[in-house]
Amino acid sequence: KPQIGVLAVQGDVREHARSLESLGATTRLVRRPEELEGLDGIVLPGGESTTMDKLLRAFDLRDPLRDRLQAGLPAYGSCAGMILLADRVLDATADQQTLGGLDVTVRRNAFGRQVDSFEEDLSMPEMLGESDRPVRAVFIRAPWVEAVGPEVRVLGTVATGPAAGRIVAVRQGNLLATSFHPEVTGDHRIHEYFLRMTRG
Ligand code: GLN
Repeated sequence: KPQIGVLAVQGDVREHARSLESLGATTRLVRRPEELEGLDGIVLPGGESTTMDKLLRAFDLRDPLRDRLQAGLPAYGSCAGMILLADRVLDATADQQTLGGLDVTVRRNAFGRQVDSFEEDLSMPEMLGESDRPVRAVFIRAPWVEAVGPEVRVLGTVATGPAAGRIVAVRQGNLLATSFHPEVTGDHRIHEYFLRMTRG
């Protein structure tokens, strides 16, 4: 069984743990550096990226976690977790830092403050296959990806509306990130894809 950590300093930790367990993974809530030992992968949940950044530093987790990611530990960041994985953040707070590793520029709260949350069907052929049904993507004060480096694969873009064409799912090597929250829909295909990444 894969042993998957869920960063548990803040955010919607339980929903990710439930989704991973329903797929047969063992999960471990990670709040201390020792809890990074022996993991096959880690999920960085949604929440508030500025708070998570502060808590990562306060819990002495930031550097050890960043080292693991650089060493190749598979990681999946959703929403605030995507921000934590990004190398560059627009509309960040003055002292906000990220773990980095994903060669992308994300914009926080990109879809507009008046649109707190919305849902949208996304087809993600490269990730899920051409014929599969679309993913119901739930966006909650979500970031989007505004620019990607050459090593980054774009796995999902918004199809319609004012945000059409915006990038909302990316992968670069061991790092996967989505702007949206698959853990709240009962559709486990994104987590399933991530578990396949942890098996190499
Ligand atoms: N707006 C939040 C942030 O900047 C992210 C929201 C979320 O994770 N649902 O961290």
